[in-house]
Amino acid sequence: MQRDEALLFELSSPGKRAWQLPPLDVPEPAAADRPPRTRDDIPGFPELSEIEIVRHYTRLSTWNYAIDLGMYPLGSCTMKYNARINEQVVRLDGLADGHPLQPLETMQGALRIMRRLEQALLEITGMDAITLQPAAGAHGEQTGILMVRACLEQRGDARQTVLIPDSAHGTNPATAALAGYRVENLRSDSRGMVDLASLEKQMTPQVAALMLTNPNTLGIFEQDILRIAEIVHQRGGLLYMDGANMNALAGRARPGDFGVDVMHLNLHKTFSTPHGGGGPGSGPVAVKSHLEPYLPAPRVRESKAGRFTLDFEQPHSIGRVRAFFGNFGMFVRALAYILANGAEGLRQTTDDAVLNANYVRRKLSADYALPYATPSLHECVFSDQKQAAQGVRTGDIAKRLMDYGFHPYTVSFPLVVPGAMMLEPTESESREELDLFIAAMRAIAEEARTQPDLVRTAPHSTRVSRMDEATAARQPVLRWQETAARTADPAAG
Ligand SMILES: *Cc1c(COP(=O)(O)O)cnc(C)c1O
Repeated sequence: MQRDEALLFELSSPGKRAWQLPPLDVPEPAAADRPPRTRDDIPGFPELSEIEIVRHYTRLSTWNYAIDLGMYPLGSCTMKYNARINEQVVRLDGLADGHPLQPLETMQGALRIMRRLEQALLEITGMDAITLQPAAGAHGEQTGILMVRACLEQRGDARQTVLIPDSAHGTNPATAALAGYRVENLRSDSRGMVDLASLEKQMTPQVAALMLTNPNTLGIFEQDILRIAEIVHQRGGLLYMDGANMNALAGRARPGDFGVDVMHLNLHKTFSTPHGGGGPGSGPVAVKSHLEPYLPAPRVRESKAGRFTLDFEQPHSIGRVRAFFGNFGMFVRALAYILANGAEGLRQTTDDAVLNANYVRRKLSADYALPYATPSLHECVFSDQKQAAQGVRTGDIAKRLMDYGFHPYTVSFPLVVPGAMMLEPTESESREELDLFIAAMRAIAEEARTQPDLVRTAPHSTRVSRMDEATAARQPVLRWQETAARTADPAAG
């Protein structure tokens, strides 16, 4: 058994102690009169020495993979580098110690940051008004679709359906269903784009909105976007754009210029704020002026004299979607990123992200099947079709990639591609890192041909080997539990 497996959790034995201060020999300070916030007695609590505790947490930290260790080509997630300067700025005392209940006069700087970020995002998207409240992309979708509903109901128009292409992110249908809509699937054509004939047919007076990801999850820009917007609008619907893929457009194309009525952004993707592990994220929602009355309150307002206030007078607002103002730390990071790059830098970033994805796409196209020939932008989607003949599937290749020191790509998504392998290198990677990744992917393709079992049983060099994923999903063990072995009476054993 590997040392790590043997030492995973059960290190406790009675009487072991880490360093502790001796009991106070002077009167307790007054604050100590409050009821204690720690428990002295937890049944079965492990007893350990200091070095064992240090090693336990240090070991756990090395089981992780991070963008700070290497390339993280998880398609659709835009795992770009989060610049240290953003972290330095957000930790400035005046920003880090702010409190949302401070009097307005003392939070002028914070409101100014929010307003400047709003203005920058409006300029980048070409939209008219924006809320920073939502805490994630999916939360932004929900906010946006609730605004669509409010707007249509205001017109006395109770439409029941939301159209969603089969290449959409899984959060889109979930959002529409949560907002009370019936979800109708819209198929893609052989180019990997919305099938216009199907849209013409399905865009009935029952359809409230089309929720479109652009570029879509194949990384393909919807070339017919103007016509799509026209069809949706002619039939009285609204066009929602999932803007989580803005890393392919920022500085190059603006959704507000191609007919989008409402969209969300993922600051924790395009705008270089950290993500993973469940947050904190930020999913601002930008709208055209006809949807502005429905934005969540409060809105940040700036007077001519440069004073910032919060406006709660929004009679048609869908209401608050989050406590206070949203994840303020993310606003600071995103604004730092935008200002550090400037317009030129953002455009360059987009171009580099597209270049990197196309470099990988080109270099791997001899070894892996490319289901759609249409040129793609910031990400590319292969399939495991060539390897499947040897019984090697996308999940196996992804696990083998870990042995080569890379985070896996996105497995089996988008759903329109059976055995999908979705790669998004982002602009953060150098030519050297991309070449290492390409070499690893080619080596795995060769292994799949000559020794498929090696790939099928991967990973081999990671701390934890292949898991039983079905059991892990059906019977997840989500917290530490006292084991029978430790509760047993040692004297009896
Ligand atoms: C990431 C992503 C989302 C969801 O964003 P979360 O912040 O994870 O909720 C939605 N749509 C697309 C296209 C995405 O890539």
